[in-house]
Amino acid sequence: AEASVTLESRFARELPELAVAWRAEDPVAARLLVLNEPLAAELGWDSVFLRSADGVRVLTGTLVPEGAAPVAQAYAGHQFGGYSPVLGDGRALLLGEVVDAHGRLRDIHLKGSGRTPFARAGDGRAVLGPMLREYLVSEAMHALGVPTTRSLAVTATGREVARETLLPGAVLTRVASSHLRVGSFQYAASTGDVELLRRLTAHAIDRHYPLLSDADNPALALLDAVIAAQASLIAQWMLIGFVHGVMNTDNMTISGETIDYGPCAFMDAFDPAAVYSSIDTGGRYAFGNQPLAAEWNLARFAEALLPAVHEEPEAAIALAQESLAAFRQHYNAAWLAGMRAKLGLRDRAADPETTPLIEELIALMGTSRVDYTSFFRALRTAATGDDRAVRGMFLDLAGFDAWAERWRALGPDPDAMDAVNPAYIPRNHLVEEALDAAAAGDMGSFERLLGAVTAPYVERPGLERYAAPAPESFGAYRTFC
Ligand code: AMP
Ligand code: MG
Ligand code: MG
Repeated sequence: AEASVTLESRFARELPELAVAWRAEDPVAARLLVLNEPLAAELGWDSVFLRSADGVRVLTGTLVPEGAAPVAQAYAGHQFGGYSPVLGDGRALLLGEVVDAHGRLRDIHLKGSGRTPFARAGDGRAVLGPMLREYLVSEAMHALGVPTTRSLAVTATGREVARETLLPGAVLTRVASSHLRVGSFQYAASTGDVELLRRLTAHAIDRHYPLLSDADNPALALLDAVIAAQASLIAQWMLIGFVHGVMNTDNMTISGETIDYGPCAFMDAFDPAAVYSSIDTGGRYAFGNQPLAAEWNLARFAEALLPAVHEEPEAAIALAQESLAAFRQHYNAAWLAGMRAKLGLRDRAADPETTPLIEELIALMGTSRVDYTSFFRALRTAATGDDRAVRGMFLDLAGFDAWAERWRALGPDPDAMDAVNPAYIPRNHLVEEALDAAAAGDMGSFERLLGAVTAPYVERPGLERYAAPAPESFGAYRTFC
């Protein structure tokens, strides 16, 4: 039978220096565990076909659709500050691109599809738990309104993968507006081929920032656009309490989408120093460090672009530094606007009182380690005077009372607050519970949690446990990638 889907191979054709033609390894016994039917429809793909034997072969890369030319992408990257000149897709493939129902070009990408020439010591495989976590968290992020790669499917491979123990293997089928990363530019720059860097720049502009296609200085225009997109993205992470966990330059997109959900977590008790990843021993990617980490990565992006920005290195550096200086302004403006919205004060942007009010709240929340998501969701009740639900979260009651009185005097809009403060996020204990059940063969818990977090702003009866903080017994959360 023929695959009823077609793909393009624009990246492979336009940037062959960054692509190695490759094929996915055959699963032992493929079993589709979860399929994102609304996303399939967006792509113009038939879910009935995707659930068929041939459809599952498309989703795992073993039936190559018409027009596709699967490749492993080359990229470099700074990992925890240390530079690796060649990373690349060691266990992933770009199958190709599809023009979706809105006319947008989307990448179809596999994770866990076997070793590639970039695999180094790795086995090229992915295990079920982390792929289901990426599915769940990326779809939750999308529902929260945060730019992100999407998840189309997770397929169990029937293979046992050796980690600390033998674990079930899986392939994630991922959709993104592209997989271009800061590390793609670092790799292109390291070849010394400025023409390649310009071609990559033009490809990125065409895919993500088409309005810049006539820019006098395309590399500088792209730098400015990515700085603005990433400043906005990181502000959104900070506003919902998301900790990415591994903000290496190979995990920072040019599109401004969140990518690579490995050791990520949602912060429970408010703490700028919150770190969940077992490998982030120095706290480099702690919650409160994320804006600085992004700014550092963007400086690496700017460095990679320098030869295309200006032929005189000193002139190029001066231009890039000027661009980088805008990150903080963009970030601060986006974060403050988002915080005002969370406090029901969206219309009070011109009021100078709102900024110190926000700063004081952050200090109070830190002292009392309040549950970040529950606090903001419950705060609406205090807008009208009954502040029992939130007051009890604070140790410094007098401090909270004084703050709340000033806040109420500004006239917060409680209904507007519900539209930006989620009731349901993928809380760490619920994610672990769902992944444990899935490992034992029961997808029910995963499906229920997915249902809750993909409609995060509308509180529904029966879902109370999805809105509650972890029980004390859950303890400190560690993530592994
Ligand atoms: P990540 O931490 O997922 O962003 O991956 C960082 C780098 O390690 C990328 O080049 C991946 O392709 C590679 N990698 C991670 N896990 C594996 C694996 N099991 N086999 C081969 N390469 C891997
Ligand atoms: Mg990565
Ligand atoms: Mg990866």
